Amino acid sequence: MSESHSVITIDGPAASGKSSIARLVAQRLGRTYVNTGNMYRAMTWAVLQTGIDPQDAEAVRAAAAGIVIDSPVVDGKTQVCIAGHALTDAELNSDPVNRAVSLIARVNEVRERLVADQRALVALGPLVMEGRDIGSVVFPDSPHKIYVDASAEVRASRRGAQGHADQIAERDRLDKQRKNSPLVIPAGATVIDNSHITLDQAVEQVIAALRLQ
Ligand code: C5P
Repeated sequence: MSESHSVITIDGPAASGKSSIARLVAQRLGRTYVNTGNMYRAMTWAVLQTGIDPQDAEAVRAAAAGIVIDSPVVDGKTQVCIAGHALTDAELNSDPVNRAVSLIARVNEVRERLVADQRALVALGPLVMEGRDIGSVVFPDSPHKIYVDASAEVRASRRGAQGHADQIAERDRLDKQRKNSPLVIPAGATVIDNSHITLDQAVEQVIAALRLQ
């Protein structure tokens, strides 16, 4: 793997296991881990606090304009903070946020702001950044791109086992069909099928693929 590029990109659908894989790959390689889904979740949490309807793109645009997300690094991972409040896992993964996040994430102005924030994070040093459009839009020139997939059945049962009420099929539909930066397999990405392998095996496959890329 060439060390010249500072971002390893990991994309994939909901509950494919990409967050667990990305966190461990970052640890193994001594890189900072960035979960961009949490940035969209934080924005959604803050927009919902204003009481607007998440289906109303104009209202989302107006509400999002005043929300700034900070990403301080704690234990090798970026946190998501709004006005000095570090959002908890419970807040980021609440049912209302699960239901609304793909509606907020399809609004152009929200994406433009968060993509700019994500690009600015290269100042932190070498990164492993995961999301939906990291290899296709945020860092299309990265030579180190991974796409983690898993069958719909496996993904639904993993998310259910985490105790979340999360309509992942609906989120995937919205994420794949939106006009701006839909979920795709980025050009040049290595696809890892995470349906029937262990987390350790998936991490090994990613590390092996990065060596070859
Ligand atoms: O990764 P996670 O499932 O937590 O992401 C939550 C939602 O955030 C996704 O369903 C998608 O709508 C949005 N997202 C996005 N682009 C990213 C990361 C997440 O649109 N890079």
